Amino acid sequence: MFDRKKFQESIERILKLEFCKILEKAESYEKYYAVSKALIENIVDRWNETEELYKKGKQAYYLSAEFLMGRALGNNLINLGIYEEVKKALDEMNIDINLIEEIEEDAGLGNGGLGRLAACFMDSCATMNLPVTGYGIRYSHGIFKQKFVDGFQVEEGDNWLKYGDPWSVRRSEDTVIVEFSDGAVKAVPYDTPIIGYDTKNINKLRLWKAEPIKDFDFKLFNEQEYDEAVKEKNRAEDISRVLYPNDSKNEGKILRLKQQYFFVSASLKDLIKKHKEKFGKNFEIFSDYHAIQLNDTHPVVAIPELMRIFIDEEGLSWEKAWEITKNTFSYTNHTILAEALEQWWSGFYKEILPRIYEIIKEIDKRFVIQLKEKGYSNNKINSMRIIADDMIKMAHLAIHGTHTTNGVAKLHTEILKHQELKDWYELYPERFQNKTNGITPRRWLKLCNKELSEMITELLGTDNWIKDLSILKELEKYLDDEKVLNRFLEIKKKKKEELADYIYANEGICIDPNSIFDIQIKRLHEYKRQLLNAFHILDLYYRLKENPKMDILPRTFIFGAKAAPGYFRAKGIIKFINEIAKLINNDSEIDGKIKVVFVQNYRVSYAEKLFPAADISEQISTAGKEASGTGNMKFMLNGTPTLGTYDGANVEIVKEAGEENNFIFGARVEEIEKIKETYDPIEYYEKVSGLKRVVDTLIDGTFDDDKTGMFEELYNSLLKGASWHRPDNYFLFRDFDDYREAHKMVDKAYRDRLGWAKKCLKNIANAGKFSSDRTIEEYAKEIWNIKAIRDS
Ligand SMILES: *Cc1c(COP(=O)(O)O)cnc(C)c1O
Repeated sequence: MFDRKKFQESIERILKLEFCKILEKAESYEKYYAVSKALIENIVDRWNETEELYKKGKQAYYLSAEFLMGRALGNNLINLGIYEEVKKALDEMNIDINLIEEIEEDAGLGNGGLGRLAACFMDSCATMNLPVTGYGIRYSHGIFKQKFVDGFQVEEGDNWLKYGDPWSVRRSEDTVIVEFSDGAVKAVPYDTPIIGYDTKNINKLRLWKAEPIKDFDFKLFNEQEYDEAVKEKNRAEDISRVLYPNDSKNEGKILRLKQQYFFVSASLKDLIKKHKEKFGKNFEIFSDYHAIQLNDTHPVVAIPELMRIFIDEEGLSWEKAWEITKNTFSYTNHTILAEALEQWWSGFYKEILPRIYEIIKEIDKRFVIQLKEKGYSNNKINSMRIIADDMIKMAHLAIHGTHTTNGVAKLHTEILKHQELKDWYELYPERFQNKTNGITPRRWLKLCNKELSEMITELLGTDNWIKDLSILKELEKYLDDEKVLNRFLEIKKKKKEELADYIYANEGICIDPNSIFDIQIKRLHEYKRQLLNAFHILDLYYRLKENPKMDILPRTFIFGAKAAPGYFRAKGIIKFINEIAKLINNDSEIDGKIKVVFVQNYRVSYAEKLFPAADISEQISTAGKEASGTGNMKFMLNGTPTLGTYDGANVEIVKEAGEENNFIFGARVEEIEKIKETYDPIEYYEKVSGLKRVVDTLIDGTFDDDKTGMFEELYNSLLKGASWHRPDNYFLFRDFDDYREAHKMVDKAYRDRLGWAKKCLKNIANAGKFSSDRTIEEYAKEIWNIKAIRDS
């Protein structure tokens, strides 16, 4: 199948065509580019065949504002099953495969979990031969690059396309026009192949780029009005310029609204065009051939947009259009955080999308009538309306305009049904489902932890686990096998050494692979409670200072997190942790017993180095706040026990792997619900030993925030509360002591090396449920009603 000679010739040819260079003269990124393009050449026939194959039946479409894909090259080689062969071929050409893998920029077209979920789903759909296409935006700048300067986060633009993207193909012929009240723009699709593992089928991620209808104004240019001549071009290109533009002002808000409508409208027009090519104007069967998943509320404007197309352009009645629309869409809810529930001031809709606004108003009007007929009170109707107080509630529109709403972990779905969306669950009980998130075992084990993968394959006598993760369960027969446990510990050690080298090279900090690697990596948010972790570290430090003989195992606390550029408090937490790191890492008395590292620019490719090297997985969100989490699953699959609260998918993780093999602490959802009205953090602050000492470092001059007021603001948020928050809104003080005790349990358990390895193996053996293949199988069967299609 893989023709080495042909592949090598192909690389040399591409280097000449694209860069006018012979191999010996090529730069690393040029080699990366040529190798990638040579692989595309290899798969292009299969890719086209798959497109034809999928046309036969029903297909699903995953609409998402984010796809956090990371790097493509290594993953695609793994999935094609030719990693070793390509490595050999490249060796012969004096190309170091590691070097060109590392040169690839991450495709960081997402923020965190939600975007990474979309990426894992793409991989699973392709692997399982499911006819699913991803639709999104081809941002020319993805999530910002993060640096620390004096411990402060500094953001830089992410120009990920500076060397071009060999993995996408521009499809000018499928360009569509998207219209706004202030003008139209072109949406040009770029397609990226989604290469599944061990299958001939190749799926597609189609991302839209915004371009002007007219490239520039010739007349103005001729008149030497250069800025004016390209104004329209720039305005159009702004739409796909950056992921989540700053929306602190109205201009930014309008731009975000345009982004949403832009990719949604383009995607629906694409579908309608294809539907008409096949079935003419027979829209009765539209939902028999198309299932569209709305990933969170960002693409929910698809509901009124499809109504508009059906009614205004295709002449359907409202009733018919509504029925088809509802049968086509389903919606995934990712959060219950009130501040994250998207709503739009109707003025923006009126201004930019007047017809869409009219349609939403009509949906709302009919909904109110429906509820009145059911005898709902005015109060209840007002709280459920789609437009209320001049705000359009996207989650309400989503639930009302789809056939299914799903939560992303059991606990989260229960909270939706019985608390946050209680009224909606009463109205539409049959619409609610749970789909516990998952991760792809290809990237998050096979690719990032070759050594552990090889061990698992050897022990199971098969590599079928890569496609059927549930068979990991059979590893349980080695739970008491010392040889296996020791081999696991050796692998973990190796991955820790590799991470230590990488951290030294990238952060300039030396860490000891013999210490416990205690890792918290995720977006920075108050509810995720990185600050609780920081307080504990500081408390441990002070206790060690008081009692230098205190018997603790050496620990390295590792953080990775980006804070949203406008999230002042989150940035304060980063600075605080960096100050703690400076204090502790430079204290010679501590003798390396504690080290603290906040790695810069946490992203998918960094994550691939961190997860395999972890001894402890920090999952310490306030119970009820983390909808699912997927980082927790990546740790588990790499043999890392969870130190966490009873929240999100942690609940299911410990159910699978056993509570005794993880470290669960803190208030549960029921307790938080009970105490939240009367909670007084001051009580804890004064009573819990050591707590005041660490909290006061925010204001007593221990640390320097360079007069930004960040630390004092953090202090006030805990003890006085900000206008929109209660004091200590995330219950750090409530959980502080429990958390400290859980850490002591970790220290104790880790001393028994084989006992520890057994816990790790128990986690691996029970990680099967958290494969995104399982999640996607459920979506396919229970929501989309689609089947695998493959060439016989
Ligand atoms: C998995 C992942 C996340 C999500 O992490 P959580 O701990 O679930 O919030 C965020 N960012 C990156 C780069 C990831 O790989």
